[in-house]
Amino acid sequence: MQSEFLKNLRASKVEKPVPLEMTFDRGNRRFLILWSDRHESIYSLEQLRKLCPCAVCREIRDKENEVRGELKVGSFTKIPLINPSIPQKIEVEEIEPVGRYAIQFRWNDGHDTGLYAFEYLRAICPCEQCSER
Ligand SMILES: [Zn+2]
Ligand SMILES: [Zn+2]
Repeated sequence: MQSEFLKNLRASKVEKPVPLEMTFDRGNRRFLILWSDRHESIYSLEQLRKLCPCAVCREIRDKENEVRGELKVGSFTKIPLINPSIPQKIEVEEIEPVGRYAIQFRWNDGHDTGLYAFEYLRAICPCEQCSER
């Protein structure tokens, strides 16, 4: 990530936690965020791709959740089913900061319309502490 971008983030006066550090760990296929409240989030690329917040992906997830509900497999779940149109091996081709509030991933399936707001990223933090809530 561009250090200038992170410096600006730190300088901005927001109450909500903002990323102090963002690390794309290509070898382990993870994306890490260290937040201003010292919380650390570790996302797998699959998780980030599946939880893409764009309208198209949201709709796909809603449909999948509906199907699940009808089949009475269980109650609605936070983790969506795998979208069959997503390739098995998700890779990030590019990560771009968007303003001061989000980042944008370009995935190897050509998808790049999802703006991952920091608030959203924090909300989907997969750590034990956060997923308990
Ligand atoms: Zn999407
Ligand atoms: Zn967490």
